[in-house]
Order: sequence, then C-alpha cells, then structure tokens
Amino acid sequence: MARYLGSSCKFCRREGMKLMLKGNRCETGKCAVERRERHMAPGMHGWRRGRNSDYGVRLREKQKVKRYYSLLDKQFMSYFDKASRRKGNTGENLLEMLEMRFDNVIYKLNFAVSRKAARQLISHGHIHLNGRKVDIPDVSVKVGDKITLKNSDRSRNQVKAQLSANPNFTPQAWLQLDADKPQATIVGVPTREDVQLVVEENLVVEFCSR
Ligand code: SF4
Repeated sequence: MARYLGSSCKFCRREGMKLMLKGNRCETGKCAVERRERHMAPGMHGWRRGRNSDYGVRLREKQKVKRYYSLLDKQFMSYFDKASRRKGNTGENLLEMLEMRFDNVIYKLNFAVSRKAARQLISHGHIHLNGRKVDIPDVSVKVGDKITLKNSDRSRNQVKAQLSANPNFTPQAWLQLDADKPQATIVGVPTREDVQLVVEENLVVEFCSR
C-alpha cells in the first residue's frame, strides 16, 4: 500500500498544532511546533500566512484529521463514504471509525510510541487479533475483540519496554489492558471525548460533502 515517506513535522507546522506523529520527540523541546517555527507554515513562503477563505478553513480541518490518522486522501474519502451511509452524525461516525482502526488501537493501548510505530508493529506480525496474526493496520476492531502478542520474546520485549516506559498509563474506558501479559480487549466504542484531536468535524463533513 502507498505510504507517505516525507517529513511528519511539516504537517504539524501547516496545521499550526501538535499532531503527535513522532512519538517521544513530540514531548521534547525538539518539536518543531514548540520551537520558533510554530507560526510558520512549511516551505519558502511559510511566513506569509494570509487569512483563510471558508473553503480554506474547511480544507484545513479535513487535512488535520487525515494527517492525524496518517491516511492518504483515497483512504480518508472511503472512510467518509462509509460514515455518511451510517445512521447518526456523520462527523462523529467518521471519528469513531478512525479510532477503531487497528493501528490506532495499538497506539492507544501504549503498545507503540506513535501510530506509525504501531503500524510497523502490526505489519511485522507482532500482534494477534482474536488469536490470529493480523498484519493489516487498517482493519477495524469491534467490541469483544481480543488483542494478544505473537508468542515470541522479541514481540513481548518490544511491547513490554514501551509499556514500562510509562508505568502510570491508563487506557481509555473502551479499552481494557492487562499490562503484565500484555494483552487487551475492546470493551466498548470510543466516544467523541476519546478523540484527542481538536477538530470541528462538522466542517470536515461540509468539506467532503461539496
Ligand atoms: Fe508534530 Fe511531533 Fe514533529 Fe512536534 S515533533 S512537529 S508534534 S510530529
């Protein structure tokens, strides 16, 4: 599957906020948003930030979500199509579907330092879903699914090292974690409050429904 291989920090600079795409680095003073580039969009003319049009405001909200979950345009629009066909609020449906992605769940369980690292953990076959190896990061999990590790010291050590780096970690209420094994169960669906990204999803829906 196609992947973006360029700089992640420029996405944060473009959106003017921390999208937490690089794990531990995002918490340090090395973060580009923490440093003086905070108010500069990337590129030669980044300092020339004008007022956004209505279209521009909506575009930025959509890009924020797409980049936060590290999706390509085509993948994002496919989620939007599915969300708009579901009952209820399309924006909330969209965010819920993105939160239930396998790579996001692995990140939210603190098995990996970032969504990108979670994706690598999955594609290298370290994670099992309901007892079977699943190496596709965009699989959707559902309530009752059980997440375990491959029966190998390498898989266990990798995840345990990440968990022990943050001993006070508590997962969100829709996730149940047994950090000793380590393993987890999906016990609910994420609510709007569980989405840590500051975004106006109604503007994303307006942009995508044009
Ligand atoms: Fe964004 Fe993290 Fe880079 Fe900071 S360090 S700009 S939060 S990806």
